[in-house]
Amino acid sequence: MTDPARDVVPALEPVRLSVRGGGRFPVRRVYCVGRNFADHAKEMGAEAPASKAARGTPVFFAKPADAVTTGDAVPYPSATQDLHHEVELVVALGADAPAGVLAVENAQALVFGYTVGLDLTRRDLQAAAKAKGLPWDVAKGFDASAPVGELVPASKIGALESRTLALEVNGERRQASTLDQLIWDVPEILHELSKLFALRAGDLVFMGTPAGVAALQPGDRCVATLDDVIALHLEITSPSV
Ligand code: MN
Repeated sequence: MTDPARDVVPALEPVRLSVRGGGRFPVRRVYCVGRNFADHAKEMGAEAPASKAARGTPVFFAKPADAVTTGDAVPYPSATQDLHHEVELVVALGADAPAGVLAVENAQALVFGYTVGLDLTRRDLQAAAKAKGLPWDVAKGFDASAPVGELVPASKIGALESRTLALEVNGERRQASTLDQLIWDVPEILHELSKLFALRAGDLVFMGTPAGVAALQPGDRCVATLDDVIALHLEITSPSV
């Protein structure tokens, strides 16, 4: 008879990010924010809020934790003809939120550090889902859809507002914005997320992308950066299926 305490399939090890200065960061959950830069909201045909008071609530979605990849080769996914890049600031939580809603003024204390990532998107499947009011999972949560770079402790980054998030593809700049353009900043997003989920150490939050999203092809070389502080290099490789 099988030992009732024995796993009948192998337990999944978490994806672990390298931390600058030493150590590794095991990933628990991956939350993503949609429409967090006005210029990107407009290019997607959505209304950009006229003021902070008119922001409403953020758009959230999630990716599976094992969609995170730290490799420098990302296979072009199946089932799409329109894979898009979205360069994003990624926030890594180093502590559990207390029970209840996290106050904006207490949110920064949860942040362990930052990296840059790509919220890779099957744009054709997302457009079809939006048109039918269907969920975005197949457009957003596919395997290797969340490449991320080295995790840098927050103390080494300092204030985010004047930092520039950017993406080059094959040496050509496709996306760039300073982070003062975020509609909801990091503490505000953590506050809003805490109304919906119990935030825990190990969680990642993709903060949304500025304008300039566009298609990627096999062979494209991407460099996502936060100033000269963080850089993620990867190549889109031939379809895996
Ligand atoms: Mn995104």
